[in-house]
Amino acid sequence: MGVTLDLSRGATATATPVKPNLCGLTRAELAQALVEAEVVRPEKAKMRASQLWRWIHHYGVTDFAAMTDVAKEMRASLDDAFSLARPEIVERQVSRDGTRKWLIRTAPGIEIETVYIPDVGRSGALCVSSQVGCTLNCTFCHTGTQALVRNLTAAEIVAQVQVARDDLGEWPSPKEDRRLSNIVFMGMGEPLYNLDNVAAAVDIIADGEGIAISRRRITVSTSGVVPELQPLGERCQTMLAISLHATNDALRDKLVPLNKKYPIAELMAGIRAYPGLANTKRVTFEYVMLKGVNDSPAEAKALVQLLKGLPAKINLIPFNPWPGSPYECSDWKTIEAFAAILNRGGYASPIRTPRGRDILAACGQLKSESEKLRASARRKAAQAQREAD
Ligand code: SAH
Ligand code: SF4
Repeated sequence: MGVTLDLSRGATATATPVKPNLCGLTRAELAQALVEAEVVRPEKAKMRASQLWRWIHHYGVTDFAAMTDVAKEMRASLDDAFSLARPEIVERQVSRDGTRKWLIRTAPGIEIETVYIPDVGRSGALCVSSQVGCTLNCTFCHTGTQALVRNLTAAEIVAQVQVARDDLGEWPSPKEDRRLSNIVFMGMGEPLYNLDNVAAAVDIIADGEGIAISRRRITVSTSGVVPELQPLGERCQTMLAISLHATNDALRDKLVPLNKKYPIAELMAGIRAYPGLANTKRVTFEYVMLKGVNDSPAEAKALVQLLKGLPAKINLIPFNPWPGSPYECSDWKTIEAFAAILNRGGYASPIRTPRGRDILAACGQLKSESEKLRASARRKAAQAQREAD
């Protein structure tokens, strides 16, 4: 059992025992935790874990007292040994267009941004983060300017879905008419550098007796970590999105430096071998529109050539600028002309409408912006305090 020290100013240094949280465990881990804490006998572990699973992941309860078909004494022992608490929500914002953003703190220095975008996917998509920061330095991405803090645990990935479900009032898991219908791993970080935890989180989120968002409605986006594509397909069976952004190695080396390690030809071969790829399972290619950099008609034609024979759709993402960013977004007309060429080449190429810009929730803007805003709010508060003194 872990112990944390409360070192906040003025507090006497008292040790607060932290009870292990059950909300982010896989089925097997849950059964094991119950046995290890001697709350449940080994022969009953699987049955008990299934019972708790429904309460945690189908009903979304955060209190053992709500588990009405569990005996009172058992609920008390569970409560003594474990927690079902959600992490702290540091900030919650709702955009004029209905986009919601949460900043979730799971541990000191571990702040995770999660964005809910209505009217995307079947009815609404949750954009989750897989790391705090990123080791890759794509030159158009604000997350890429931040060092990696660490990989998120499976529990921290699942917690993002649970927090969103709480806020959307979506417990118990509805069978139809869901507001949160899709999950995209397009927040902070490179999910294929954290595949073990992403795979465990997908197992939990997709479980039919819980949150029950099917693997076909979960999309993992990667900048192109080729050796992990096959393991991703085999372990997760999720939809695949590739952040392509350029059709030749010289340019992609600059935009997505990982391309130097896994150039376009290798990436395309990896995608073509993605397990389960068929017409029903299209690969999404993401292409950020950068003015005068990658947005010419010749590049649109090259893109059609590159994807020939692949069941694919291309998401054109208008570049979201951030302070000091070295690029500008392509003009709307240029984006439309680019899309028209792709369409003529046989590829659906929706232009992604920027959402939640007023709350800095757009692609590639996560975390650092709100951190900056909070720093500036703290400075203003300190200034006001000084003036009041
Ligand atoms: N690391 C993974 C997933 C997170 S990035 C990846 O790169 O695919 C999610 C998407 O946001 C990627 O397609 C990325 O290229 C895009 N993106 C990053 N910064 C952006 C920006 N400033 N404007 C528009 N899209 C951006
Ligand atoms: Fe990392 Fe993706 Fe941003 Fe590249 S685009 S720096 S891989 S989060």
